[in-house]
Amino acid sequence: MQIILATDMGFCFGVRRAIVMMEQAAQAQPRIESLGAVVHNPQVVDRLSSQGVQVVKNIGDITSTSVAITAHGVGPDVVRELEKRGLDVLDTTCPIVERSQIAAKKLVEDGFIVVVYGNSDHPETRGVLGWAGDKGIATTDHDFLKGYKRPPKKIGILAQTTQVPAHFTAFVKDIMDQALEDATEIRVVNTLCNATSSQQEAAIVLATQVQLMVVVGGRNSANTRHLAELCTSEGVETYHIERADEIDSSWLVGKDRVGVTAGASTPDEAINAVVQKLEEISKELATDSR
Ligand code: SF4
Repeated sequence: MQIILATDMGFCFGVRRAIVMMEQAAQAQPRIESLGAVVHNPQVVDRLSSQGVQVVKNIGDITSTSVAITAHGVGPDVVRELEKRGLDVLDTTCPIVERSQIAAKKLVEDGFIVVVYGNSDHPETRGVLGWAGDKGIATTDHDFLKGYKRPPKKIGILAQTTQVPAHFTAFVKDIMDQALEDATEIRVVNTLCNATSSQQEAAIVLATQVQLMVVVGGRNSANTRHLAELCTSEGVETYHIERADEIDSSWLVGKDRVGVTAGASTPDEAINAVVQKLEEISKELATDSR
């Protein structure tokens, strides 16, 4: 059995940067808390915890004097609240996410309502919406304009950085079709992250070459889920797993070519463990068939 790795997968620049910043901060002080998980991956969270970076869910849970904002970023109200509490703030917001935050703020200043194509409960989206004040919404519903009695005149559209480019394009086209009659201006800012789209493209290419795709990453990682969805939509049998021990050897029976990809928040160790496990199962199956 051949195990083929996607040409682009795993930790992106923003996640590597955030983790290094937190590790360095943890070395310099006894305790630092991260407001939310640094990335959507339990193994990374556990490793950072052993190095002195503890995750807290809410501002009210903070007990240390130092707090880290994750790569997903936060809204300005959160930054103000942390500063008001006199906390030492380490901001690891990914620069690409920061670009979305700045775009949201600018759109509101220019009189637009801000529509973020994304999941409203995702931390990055919540943070970006924070920069739009009460002028922002997050949705993936192509018909959301039907909910307005009087459609907005100026509509600014952004994307959660990890959305699939083709899905964002389809959303923008539909909104254009529906809104142009009433709107005076529609402004689209491409806030998609190249790191993610490059991984998505590599996953799609690989999915067409194999009989089985294993997608490694946290179940609550949006970009890992997107990779799994894309592979499935290519018609290939696909499994989204967090850890190597979730692999069921029956998946590999009769397969000659197996592909592996991983989300932007998946550490190298998790990918290596999956590849090793696949190699072990492959050897076992080869032995059994002799
Ligand atoms: S996926 Fe892109 S936007 Fe998100 S943290 Fe990584 S580099 Fe930044």
